Amino acid sequence: MVKIGVMALQGAVMEHIRSLEECGVEAVLVKTKSDLQNIDGLIFPGGESTTMRKLIDRFDLLIPLKQFAESGKPMFGTCAGLILLARNIQDQDSQHIGVLEATVERNSFGRQVNSFETILEIQGVAADFPAVFIRAPHIVEVGKSVEILATHENRIVMARQDNILGCSFHPELTNDHRITAYFIQMVQESLAKQVNL
Ligand code: GLN
Repeated sequence: MVKIGVMALQGAVMEHIRSLEECGVEAVLVKTKSDLQNIDGLIFPGGESTTMRKLIDRFDLLIPLKQFAESGKPMFGTCAGLILLARNIQDQDSQHIGVLEATVERNSFGRQVNSFETILEIQGVAADFPAVFIRAPHIVEVGKSVEILATHENRIVMARQDNILGCSFHPELTNDHRITAYFIQMVQESLAKQVNL
């Protein structure tokens, strides 16, 4: 059975676990380097990206996480998770894992009180996905190899680059599991590719 990890340092971890389980795959908490050995794909939840980064450094996870992405295994970041994956962060000199060829701007839809929900059309996923935005980032620009999957008010809010998927909002806070199912399919496709090598 496909086994997908959820980075369990901080944030909406259990919500992603629940969504994966409802889709019928095995979901595991990832806290250490050795946890990365046993999973086929990895999700970074929403939360607070600078806090997550501190914990990534404390547990020596930055290089193992980059290597995980380079191995071709799928990674999916939601909200703060998207910020962790981005190659560039607006007005900041350094990035975190930096594997998604994109520039993100943090908190670009306003403060916590400006949180909102909207219906998005997402390429290859759904015509009517309920998206929850909480102090969300947006993607300012993407590299050539990045496919834009959704926009909201002319801002990019979901994108994919081969094995890397990111979105500004929180699919795990709804009961709509179509994005989780899309990521599971990415993981299944990457497993099939490895078998065929
Ligand atoms: N604003 C947060 C950050 O910059 C992300 C918010 C979220 O994940 N809901 O990390």
